[in-house]
Amino acid sequence: MTNTSAKSTSILHDNFGRDHAYLRISLIERCNLRCSYCMPAEGVKLSPKSHLMTGDEIYNIAKTFVKHGVTKIRLTGGEPLIRKDIPVILEKLASLDVTLSITSNAVIIDKHIAVLKANNVNKINISLDSLEREKFKKITLRDQFKKVYTNILLLVKENFEVKVNVVLMKDFNDNEIINFIKLTKNLPISIRFIEFMPFDGNKWDKNKMVSYKEIMDYVHDAFNNNEIIRLTDAKNDTTKNYKIEGYQGSFGIISSVTNPFCDSCNRLRLTANGKIKNCLFSATESDLLTTLREGNSIEPVVEKAVKAKFKIRGGMDTLEKLQEPKLHNKNRSMITIGG
Ligand code: SAM
Ligand code: SF4
Repeated sequence: MTNTSAKSTSILHDNFGRDHAYLRISLIERCNLRCSYCMPAEGVKLSPKSHLMTGDEIYNIAKTFVKHGVTKIRLTGGEPLIRKDIPVILEKLASLDVTLSITSNAVIIDKHIAVLKANNVNKINISLDSLEREKFKKITLRDQFKKVYTNILLLVKENFEVKVNVVLMKDFNDNEIINFIKLTKNLPISIRFIEFMPFDGNKWDKNKMVSYKEIMDYVHDAFNNNEIIRLTDAKNDTTKNYKIEGYQGSFGIISSVTNPFCDSCNRLRLTANGKIKNCLFSATESDLLTTLREGNSIEPVVEKAVKAKFKIRGGMDTLEKLQEPKLHNKNRSMITIGG
């Protein structure tokens, strides 16, 4: 069937009918935490500073994406807030016609409240994998639980829309699922349980992952059926959302491993060294920064990358393929992609 709509001719339209309106930009490869599922214990090979996008380059690349239909930009990293020029980057991107949001570990977010507000960054995703100080320290290798928790409360008080990302790992934090959900009784936040995903160097093992089904088993054991409300998910939402009757907040599950949501994917990713990744799981990347620095248009490179997008998880369309280290280790570590 021939699609003659304007969208089908867009450089952000792929071969499976998906339009990409959401760009996630990683600002930095470094981080002030060391989450084991994200950063390999031996660290990652960092790009030389001269290979990283400057604030102006980020803006120029983002502007091209917005021209072609991107309406949503999320900043991530590494930890985006440790980038010294974050206020300038926020200000530049806020001048574009987009909804701007950020994913952070919240360790230093209290110092950025004013600049986030000034640039209309209202939606904030925070990573927090345990409500117990010792466990937090074990997974992040830093004793920052109190700071992160206090900062989440501060964000709520300051009226930010807060989502808390929890990567679940068996026999590590799966016993905290219900405590996380109970947090939503009096806090208007959304807890998002994320299935542990395989990336280069994170020693992924299917047996460590807590699946969507297992998470819901915990929920059904703790609450009555009529208290568990399935919410309507927003278009292109990667989360299956629920709430407990009478609770202020909600919770959801991101099941990229057991239940991929690739059909409705509208995301593209730009790494801190200026490479476009057409999928979180794709092993191939296209170099926009070099093209930009050579004075050429990035549009043909973007179009080629979008058209090369696989239907499902960078070509790892079955759980068996995803489990294959030879395949998922071709991808970067998450810390250099940005989630
Ligand atoms: N430093 C920020 C933070 O932690 O929120 C932003 C970057 S972090 C890479 C973005 C998100 O990726 C976090 O929510 C983190 O939990 C998630 N993430 C990292 N590695 C993951 C993995 N192996 N499986 C699932 N989610 C992962
Ligand atoms: Fe840093 Fe975020 Fe990765 Fe943790 S998940 S190491 S906070 S980038």
